[in-house]
Amino acid sequence: MIIHSTGTLPIFNGTVTDYLRTKPSYSSTDPAYIDVVTGNSISYSEVWKLADRLSSALYNDYGLTDAKPDENVGPVVMLHAVNSPLLASVHYALLDLGVTITPAAATYEAGDLAHQIKVCSPSLVICNQQFEPKVKSASSNTKLIFIEDLLKTQSSAPWKKFTTSNPNRVAYLGMSSGTSGLPKAVQQTHINMSSSTEAVISSQTIFSARKNVTAAIVPMTHVYGLTKFVFHSVAGSMTTVVFPKFSLVDLLEAQIKYKINILYLVPPVVLALAKDSRVQPYIKSICELTTLIATGAAPLPPTAGDALLERLTGNKEGNRDNGMDPLVLIQGYGLTETLQVSVFKPEDPERDLKTVGKLLPNTEVRIVGEKGDVPRSKWSFVTPPTGEIYIRGPHVTPGYFNNDSANSESFDGEWLKTGDIGYMDLEGRLTIVDRNKEMIKVNGRQVAPAEIESVLLGHPMVKDVAVIGVTNPDRGTESARAFLVTEARALPVIKQWFDRRVPSYKRLYGGIVVVDAIPKSASGKILRRVLRERKGDSVFGE
Ligand code: AMP
Repeated sequence: MIIHSTGTLPIFNGTVTDYLRTKPSYSSTDPAYIDVVTGNSISYSEVWKLADRLSSALYNDYGLTDAKPDENVGPVVMLHAVNSPLLASVHYALLDLGVTITPAAATYEAGDLAHQIKVCSPSLVICNQQFEPKVKSASSNTKLIFIEDLLKTQSSAPWKKFTTSNPNRVAYLGMSSGTSGLPKAVQQTHINMSSSTEAVISSQTIFSARKNVTAAIVPMTHVYGLTKFVFHSVAGSMTTVVFPKFSLVDLLEAQIKYKINILYLVPPVVLALAKDSRVQPYIKSICELTTLIATGAAPLPPTAGDALLERLTGNKEGNRDNGMDPLVLIQGYGLTETLQVSVFKPEDPERDLKTVGKLLPNTEVRIVGEKGDVPRSKWSFVTPPTGEIYIRGPHVTPGYFNNDSANSESFDGEWLKTGDIGYMDLEGRLTIVDRNKEMIKVNGRQVAPAEIESVLLGHPMVKDVAVIGVTNPDRGTESARAFLVTEARALPVIKQWFDRRVPSYKRLYGGIVVVDAIPKSASGKILRRVLRERKGDSVFGE
């Protein structure tokens, strides 16, 4: 059964930069980006002027002249950089030359870069100077330019602007592990990028208000940071305060200084805001200044969301005094392969933080269970029948780059098999239960680590948590093991408290391990592999 989004939008048939040029921000003199470190700002019109100078330099001085509009993939350039207020101009300059950009996370080690270089074959790497040793050890023969040098250019020599009507022209090769294996290069076309941006900004009322200020704390190399801070914020005329490196206190200080009203976060930051003692002096300012808190890229334990709203407003509904609208916490869901799929709308009266909201326009979904497609569920009080989420739409990748086996594994015709398990209610709200491959099988019944984590985070002594499946030969089945950031002396109490809240098959028969911190990726995903590889832990209550 195909579930359609409500609303369709026309497709923009051109490059994503030409799409952005249709937006009011293109000629605006309002600040587009502010550097949180120096306080310097750059206006929208300056962003585009800088992009023109960079295109000119890249075309005339660095030889990026050979984009062929009929080919799907252009000359490939790797962009390996920390967040900067000038980075959007580098993106636009490259896209205007028909380049296909492969963003590489600043946290990548030489081995990760070597793999990405092998998969994407860039003819050029543009990176921060500090990354030179890493890039050289990853590949000694790839041409390299430092962003710092490139940005000094005053070039105004003519250059040829790229145009194409090829619907499959690839703008980005984003790295993703997909449902299995080593990271693969996801082809994100110009149409994928513009369709997704238009769907997001047309369906969220916040974008109709001008003078929104947001903070780029998520890396612009990850699909979440890239889409939010290089495309959505620009198409929606926001001002973005840019953080080269995340710091909780710097974010809270910057919120007051720049009146940041929209917070795009990842779950670990939601958790820190909910539980970290350093947040205490800022509670009043966060509550007064914030219009919207959004999170994505990884599951948000609903208890963490509840705890945050309760801390900020004194109630889980986010109701505020002084006639202010309620403070709304929403989730968006997406993948590198799909860009954004759904969003929980601020005006949705159903404030259940479990859901990742409704499908964006032009999106179609199927929920595919073991016995075929699962219909929408009218029961949201118990976990209804679930299935793997399949997605189709103009923002879904046409496939992985040069990887036939991954393509045949991950697609059913035009449908992308996400590897995420979930369900949809009758109002069209999607809920993600967990990743298929993370599910723990306890005596044949599925236990979602995300659910166990959410319950455990509801205990005030639990600062952070991750759950994995371990095989216990004595029990003859997999069972759940929790890694907790807490005090060891609290374990008996936490265990007793937890056991009262879950059916017996969901209990922690794999025991509990106390850790200092949960390993997470820059986009906030728990690195369960690192936990699975741990040896010699002292395990409580196994
Ligand atoms: P990435 O390609 O790094 O964006 O990872 C995509 C995966 O992140 C999805 O397949 C989901 O497993 C997970 N994910 C993203 N957003 C959410 C969300 N709001 N809730 C649960 N999981 C999410």
